[in-house]
Amino acid sequence: MKFEGSFKNKPLEIRGQRVEVGEHKLIKVEIDRLPTGTAIEIPIYVYNGIEDGPTILIQAGLHGDEVNGVETIRELLRGNYFKIKRGCIIVVPLLNVFGFLHFSREAFGKDVNRSFPGSKTGSLASRIAYFEMKEIVEHIDFGIDMHTGGAQRHNFPQVRYTPGSSAGKHLATIFNAPFQFSSNLIAKSFRKEAHKNGVPIIVYEAGEALRIDKLSVQIGINGVLNILEYFGMIDPRGALPKKHETVELIKNRWIRAKTAGMLGVVVENGQKVEKGQLLGYITDTYGASTLKIVAPTNGYIIAVNNFPMVSTGEAIFHFGF
Ligand SMILES: [Zn+2]
Repeated sequence: MKFEGSFKNKPLEIRGQRVEVGEHKLIKVEIDRLPTGTAIEIPIYVYNGIEDGPTILIQAGLHGDEVNGVETIRELLRGNYFKIKRGCIIVVPLLNVFGFLHFSREAFGKDVNRSFPGSKTGSLASRIAYFEMKEIVEHIDFGIDMHTGGAQRHNFPQVRYTPGSSAGKHLATIFNAPFQFSSNLIAKSFRKEAHKNGVPIIVYEAGEALRIDKLSVQIGINGVLNILEYFGMIDPRGALPKKHETVELIKNRWIRAKTAGMLGVVVENGQKVEKGQLLGYITDTYGASTLKIVAPTNGYIIAVNNFPMVSTGEAIFHFGF
């Protein structure tokens, strides 16, 4: 695997635009046009350092409504953190521009993260995937892909890596989110396709779609800087406030609604809980019945459903242990 070799950045080319060692450049990749003729462009910032080091992808907005990652990268761009001395960073602050414009996860009704490896002549989602594989992944040693919970579920900041990937686990540990765990590869996803090409991707899942969450953004910024610092790409940041411990979760599962009704949550997201502890309750809408939801074992709450009306079988708490 590339991750274990010695790293050497070289000049790279995206859409015919060459970025030499020691240069940085904003490349706008036209991916489609609106029916009005307006071009849809994906912005790609490339920072190619002078000294040898890894080439890293830092990406957000694969799902267009997952804005915490977009905000995290915006803060990093604004703070000039990517002006590195070693290695190369390819920054994609917003991959699915079309979804972002429509406050939507998808691109023209299709999930980009279920469209890999994509095709040159397919749907917009498929073409975005194709571009990503052919023009981005071929350059990188590893990547960080930023996501949030969907459907009004809030993920407490967590990093997921591919089972059996020592490089992925190592990167997750350096990132230092409150939780990390291995999670299976989803068919036609970016992480799976990159993995097939020998490129480890870690997924930072934090917060909720269409909401900015300050804690998620702050931990995301620190995580990216931890990785850049580890590989000597930025200067050491000196004495930082004491980092939290990362909890490595062995198993995780969703606790689902046993009945339909109104959801009340009594625990904090990220909280450690004990077997039998009250997590929340489901009442019928008019106050006649209450069903308690309790922790199935000792563990942690790593995502909470913030939508108050639930149907039977709906995912309410993501529980890690
Ligand atoms: Zn996502």
